[in-house]
Amino acid sequence: MDRSEQGLHTRIVHAGQSPDPVTGALTASIHRSAPFVFESLEVLDQYSAKTLPHYEYSRTTHPTGRILEAKLAALDRAEDALILASGMAAITAVLLATLGQGDHLVVTDNGYKRSLRFMSDTLPRWGIRTDLVDSREPLEAVRAAFTPATKLVFAEVPSNPNLRVIDIAALADITHAAGALLAVDATIASPYNLRPLEHRADIVIHSATKYLGGHNDVLGGVVAASLEVLQPIRDISINLGATLDPEACYLILRGIKTLGVRVERQNETALTLARWLESRPEVSCVYYPGLESDPTHALAKRQMDGYGGMLSFDLRTDLAGISRFVNALGTILFAPSLGGVESLIIHPGITVRHDLTDAERERFGYTDTLLRLAVGLEDPKDLKADLERGLAAL
Ligand code: PLP
Repeated sequence: MDRSEQGLHTRIVHAGQSPDPVTGALTASIHRSAPFVFESLEVLDQYSAKTLPHYEYSRTTHPTGRILEAKLAALDRAEDALILASGMAAITAVLLATLGQGDHLVVTDNGYKRSLRFMSDTLPRWGIRTDLVDSREPLEAVRAAFTPATKLVFAEVPSNPNLRVIDIAALADITHAAGALLAVDATIASPYNLRPLEHRADIVIHSATKYLGGHNDVLGGVVAASLEVLQPIRDISINLGATLDPEACYLILRGIKTLGVRVERQNETALTLARWLESRPEVSCVYYPGLESDPTHALAKRQMDGYGGMLSFDLRTDLAGISRFVNALGTILFAPSLGGVESLIIHPGITVRHDLTDAERERFGYTDTLLRLAVGLEDPKDLKADLERGLAAL
C-alpha cells in the first residue's frame, strides 16, 4: 500500500509494518539471530553483487531494525533511514562519513555539549577543522564561516539549552550554494513537530532515546536521508558496529506508535507552563519558541507543527537558590534527558562545570541560573504546583 499520502498519525501507527504473512502476527517480531542462512552459493554471490536483497549478519542489518527504519523514513519523509545504537552514534557516523582530512565543518554553537565537543576537540585530530558559529545570527554566521573546504553544516533545531529555532530552508540554500551538505539534529522537536528534509536539509538526525522511544527506557539514534547520502553513513555504522539490538528496536517501534498523542500533549503542557513561568516575578527569562516574546517565534510558527515539550528558564537567584528550587521538587525528577513520559529537570551549567571555562559556559548558554525542563505526561496542574514549590523555596 502506498502510505506516502497518509496523514502523520496514520503513518506513525502503520508505516513500515504489516501483519506477518505466515503467522498473522500484528506486531513486529524480534529476530535475535546474529547470522542468517543462505540457500546456496549462488544466492550468496548475488547478495554480494548487490543484485539480491538478503539478511547476512545482524551487525549489517536485521529484520526488526529494517521494520523500524521503514517507519522512521516514512515519518521524516526520507528515502531511507538508519537506526543506530544511540544519538551520539548517529552524530559521529554522519561526521565520519561526510568529512575527511582537510575538510571543514561549520556548526551552530547552541547544541548538545557532547556532539559539539566531539566536533571541536576530536575531529581536529584527523585533520578536520570545526568552526562553532553564533546560533543567534545563524545565517550570517554560517555564510561568513564558509571556506572552499567546507563540506558540512550542522545545526541543532531547536537547540540545547536555549531552544533556538533556525530557518532550515534558508540555511539549506546557503549551504547548497557552497556545495556542502546540511545536517539537522531535530531530536528536541521529534518528527511530529519538525521534518527538516521537507525544508531541504540533506540529513536529519534524532536521538531515538528521546521522543521516539518516549519512555526513558531505551537508547537509539536515527539518521534519515536520500539513499545516496545515507549509504556511506550506513557503511561507517556497520564498520563501527554501532548497530542497535533487535530488542531495543522493538521498544522504539512500540514507543513510536504513541508519538503523536504524547507529543501533542507535551506541546500543550509546555506552552501552558512557559506562559505561566513568564508571568512569575522570580523568573527573568523563559526560552520557548511557542512564546510570542521568543525571538524565533514567527519562524517556529511557520516551520514547525508544534513548539515541543522542552523549555528552559532563568531564575532571579544564584546557585544556592537553584539548589533549594531543585530540592523542593517532588513530581519533576532531577535528571538529564528528555522526551519521555516522566517530566525531568536539569541544571545544564553543572553538567559542564568541570569541562568548560566560564567564558565557554556563558557563550553556550550554560549560565548558573538556567534550568531546562523536559515536560512529560503528568497533569499540568501537578507540574505547575511542583514548580510553585520550587519558586517558594528560592
Ligand atoms: N542530540 C541531542 C539534541 C541530545 O539532546 C542528545 C542527548 O541528550 C543527543 C543528541 C545524544 O543522544 P544519545 O544520548 O541517544 O546518544
